[in-house]
Amino acid sequence: MAVRVTIDPELCIGSGDCIRVAPGAFHLDEAAGVSRPTATASSEDAERLVRAAMGCPTQAIRLERDDAVTR
Ligand code: SF4
Repeated sequence: MAVRVTIDPELCIGSGDCIRVAPGAFHLDEAAGVSRPTATASSEDAERLVRAAMGCPTQAIRLERDDAVTR
């Protein structure tokens, strides 16, 4: 299942929790002081993504099933 991963930069406080949980899916944009999804975030293990989203202190991470993916 592909998952679309987005982070609301208005909510993110750059705590880095998501990066510790799923380093393949998030990276810190140091200039902006916020976390961003990596190019491969959508193929990260879904459980790990959910754990990262649940652990975000500001609920800045949004996960959506990407049903539009063609096979
Ligand atoms: S856990 Fe949430 S607030 Fe912290 S860096 Fe990740 S998205 Fe930003």
